[in-house]
Amino acid sequence: MAPLRMVILGRQGSGKGTQSERLIGAYGCIHLSTGDVLRAAVAAGTELGRQAKAVMDSGGLVGDDIMNGIVRDRLTHADIAAGGVLLDGYPRTSDQADALEAILDESGHRLDVAVNIDVPIDVVTARMLDRGRSDDTLEAIQRRLELYEEQTAPLLDWFDARGLLATIDGVGTPGEVFDRVVAAVERQRR
Ligand code: AMP
Repeated sequence: MAPLRMVILGRQGSGKGTQSERLIGAYGCIHLSTGDVLRAAVAAGTELGRQAKAVMDSGGLVGDDIMNGIVRDRLTHADIAAGGVLLDGYPRTSDQADALEAILDESGHRLDVAVNIDVPIDVVTARMLDRGRSDDTLEAIQRRLELYEEQTAPLLDWFDARGLLATIDGVGTPGEVFDRVVAAVERQRR
C-alpha cells in the first residue's frame, strides 16, 4: 500500500503523542512533531532553540515563517517520499495550512487524512497538569488552549472542505482510541 501521509490534530493533552507513537509503529511512517523539533533545538542550544524557548514557555506560538521553513526542509527529504509522514503539531494556523498545501503540491504528494482526536477542555487540562512537563504551568496550558480554539480549531473546517477530516472520540484507553484512529485512517484511504 502507498505510504501514509497524515495529520494528527487535537488539543494539547488529547493524546496525540501517544497515538502518534502507535501510528508510526503500525504504518512505518516518519513522525514529524514540530514540538519535538523545537524541544530538540532548545536542548541543543541552537539559534532556533534560543528564539523558540521563551515563546514555548509562555504557551505562545512560534512564528509561521520559522515553522513553515522547518516543515518544508523535512518534507522534501527522500525518506518521507518513500515512507510517508505523520505530521503532529503542524499545521497550527491557517497560514501554516496554506504553506503545507503548497509544499505538498510542489513535492507531488497529497495528504490521505487529518484525524482530529476530540477530548473536552476540562479533561485535557487535568491530563496536562498531571503530566507535569516544565512548560505545563496552568497559565501556559490555558494560553495554549485559547490559541488552539482561536487559531487551530478553524483548521478543522479547512481539512473538512478538502474531504480529509475524520473526528474521533479521544476519551478512552490508549488502545480504544488507537482502534478508532486506525478505523478512521482506513476509511479515508479506501
Ligand atoms: P507541542 O509539543 O506540539 O505541544 O508544541 C510545544 C510548543 O512548541 C507549542 O506550545 C508552541 O509554542 C511550539 N510549537 C510547536 N509546533 C508549532 C507550530 N506548528 N506553530 C507554532 N508553534 C509551535
